[in-house]
Amino acid sequence: MSFTVPPLHSGGVMLTYKCDNACRHCLYCCSPKSSDEVMSEEMIDHTMSALSKERSLDGIHFGGGECSLFFDWLLYAIRSAVKHGVRIDYLETNGGWCIDDQTAVDGFKRLRDAGLSGVLISASLFHLEFIPVNVTKTAIRAAHKVFDGAFVWTDEVLRLMERLPDHDKKYPIQESCRLLGINPADGTLWQIHSYLNPCGRAARRLSEGLRRYAALICALRQLGSAPAKGDTIKIGQALRDKKCSGLGVGNCCSGCDRYVPGCPPTAAQILEMLR
Ligand code: SF4
Repeated sequence: MSFTVPPLHSGGVMLTYKCDNACRHCLYCCSPKSSDEVMSEEMIDHTMSALSKERSLDGIHFGGGECSLFFDWLLYAIRSAVKHGVRIDYLETNGGWCIDDQTAVDGFKRLRDAGLSGVLISASLFHLEFIPVNVTKTAIRAAHKVFDGAFVWTDEVLRLMERLPDHDKKYPIQESCRLLGINPADGTLWQIHSYLNPCGRAARRLSEGLRRYAALICALRQLGSAPAKGDTIKIGQALRDKKCSGLGVGNCCSGCDRYVPGCPPTAAQILEMLR
């Protein structure tokens, strides 16, 4: 079997996995607890040199983690890309460091002077758990001033966030959803952030749910027949702290008439309850 690596047209260079946020949807599970490791100057130069030989490469972006946590490395990486003739499309940032106009403008100017030509600023209800709307808007305002524009990812969610009453507040996801009339259990939250993939931290959370679901399927197969008519089975974190009829599977469903404790419970425990 042979495998051909297709030509590289664009790519992200991740300087670090460290981030000041720990967004629930993060593709790379970044967080303040991630290692302090950042690409060394030698590795940055090596990477840029290799990228400069990619004939089909249009451009790269810098991402992470939050690269701005290692500002001097970020400046070095931008200069290295310029030196090697690698086009930089933009820097991805959560903008959390843009605590006031001056700080934001000064920071973007340093990046621009090193060779950066654009910036992408994240705006999502997941980021909002860590960064107030006003900080995101400060970042956007400053980027407009310095780069003559800013790419907001996404504008649509930013407009939604602006409907919240307190722009200086970090909103837990349950609260922002409640205030915006979004039911986090019916998939709307994911539709709003439709660009997301079930990878990273989201996949980890999903797999916890899947383990519960797999144990239930396994128990039902072993039971060999459907549970008694009318005996509905409840499963899922959306039922946490709620009163429900029927049989619940897992600790989240402790509000059901009867429930199988565990996180997740085993197929044998579920089976015992079903019998
Ligand atoms: S800001 Fe970006 S890198 Fe940091 S945790 Fe959130 S999604 Fe991940």
